[in-house]
Amino acid sequence: MAEKMWGSEPFWGLGYEWDPDWVYTDRQKELRATLIELCEKELRANAKRSDDELLFPRRNLELLGEHGFLGLTVPEEYGGLGENHVAYSMVCETIARYGCASTAMCYVMHIGAVNAIMLRPTDALIDKYIRPLNSGKIGTLSYSDPETGSHFWYPVSSGAERSNGGYKVRKKASWTTSGGFADFYVVQTTSPNFTGYDDLSVFVVDGDVVESQPSLWDALGLRGNQSGPLEVPNVEIPADQLVGPEGDGATSNDESVDPWFLIGSSSVWNGIALGAIDIAKRHTTRKRHVDVGMRVADYPTIQDYVGEAVMDTNACRLFVLSVAQAMDQDTDNNRRVLKPGELARANYLHWAWQIKFEAAKNVAHHVDKMLHACGGSGYKRDMELERYLRDAKAGWVMGPTNEVLRQFVGKAVLLGFESLDYWNQTYNRRAVENELKKLDAAGKRELAEQLLQEADEQAAKEPAKAG
Ligand SMILES: Cc1cc2nc3c(=O)[nH]c(=O)nc-3n(C[C@H](O)[C@H](O)[C@H](O)COP(=O)(O)OP(=O)(O)OC[C@H]3O[C@@H](n4cnc5c(N)ncnc54)[C@H](O)[C@@H]3O)c2cc1C
Repeated sequence: MAEKMWGSEPFWGLGYEWDPDWVYTDRQKELRATLIELCEKELRANAKRSDDELLFPRRNLELLGEHGFLGLTVPEEYGGLGENHVAYSMVCETIARYGCASTAMCYVMHIGAVNAIMLRPTDALIDKYIRPLNSGKIGTLSYSDPETGSHFWYPVSSGAERSNGGYKVRKKASWTTSGGFADFYVVQTTSPNFTGYDDLSVFVVDGDVVESQPSLWDALGLRGNQSGPLEVPNVEIPADQLVGPEGDGATSNDESVDPWFLIGSSSVWNGIALGAIDIAKRHTTRKRHVDVGMRVADYPTIQDYVGEAVMDTNACRLFVLSVAQAMDQDTDNNRRVLKPGELARANYLHWAWQIKFEAAKNVAHHVDKMLHACGGSGYKRDMELERYLRDAKAGWVMGPTNEVLRQFVGKAVLLGFESLDYWNQTYNRRAVENELKKLDAAGKRELAEQLLQEADEQAAKEPAKAG
């Protein structure tokens, strides 16, 4: 097995013997070696500047573009590297581990936007957004709505209408990674002639027509990812910037946006956990206590911390890679073009929820443990561990949050998938009848009158039924 290098020196963290190399192709291992080299030369140093100065990691993203990574999953005939879900996991993890977690998160959102487009590729979209990727063009996903918080699939502050042969699109987003810096934004709005919140459409909007406020971004970690608020202020866009048919939004979420985001972001959390373990190895094997003649790494307590962190994190990595492999199998290594209505990745969505929950939980726990292993020295900024710790904490709170995910899984297991009711459409008779028991006769009568009046108003608005 080749030795992992850091410039001209052997790498100071965990070697390749702790990486699941049997999962990767030779080409993927070469791509990883290239990335580690880029991280050593430039990405990691830029991570510190991004963190200190709230700086968008443009140079890091340009470097990724120069080496083809901005088109990683794009077919080779359109200028991409033609890679699959496993490669994507490896790239996100590697950038976060050895380089810069903010860059890794911008990269996740970029590939998310690219793949939302590639779910429904057209010549116009490919020529405008996909072929120029390696010149450093950055895309992102703008979904989260200020009115619905982490329920990012519920875009209340948005809309689209047909206009001049194209569309007029409006959207308010509370968070958008690379907001104000990206060249194109994939946004989701309610559809023209909207029939309900499951009737969503996907558009690509150019960077020069969105309004953003990057100066409002200041956060605990991922400080370079610039996830500020954004507005698409009712702008006219050409018809060919609708992605897929009108109303394709829910399928686009299940088949593309969520699977790619969950694989990529889980890999970032795993990369941060590994990066923290690497730093803990470097520090604890070098620091000595002269009185007892031992290094910190010689204490069994520290060995236990590191052993448990490695095992838990590798379980999370292999979980992500296994789900990525399932998606590779069902998409012919990401080469299959699916027709609207055809699903492949979506069949594993409930697995993708689980990998994100586990990776975000694991990293939040083990960055704390690596801090404990390194002691007060780890608390100081020069060791970089504290940046990994702050970056890690984004995992739990980024949508879909871990509270939402564990409820999705528990509810789906106990009550069935249909009980998830993303768009608040299913009437919970059990809950209503239970509440009604608490009312006396007068209360029931008052409610009945209110409901009758509402029913009359609603019936007047509904289209008349035939016959
Ligand atoms: C670093 C970072 C980058 C981001 N980048 C992007 C981006 O590029 N694009 C994008 O669209 N969004 C992005 N987001 C937004 C993210 O996806 C969430 O929408 C956002 O974090 C939600 O924050 P909030 O304060 O609105 O949380 P809230 O929704 O107000 O949540 C508050 C609490 O309530 C809990 N909660 C919410 N709903 C439920 C429920 N149904 N059941 C149980 N508990 C619930 C939450 O888990 C949390 O504990 C980013 C967020 C972060 C932190």
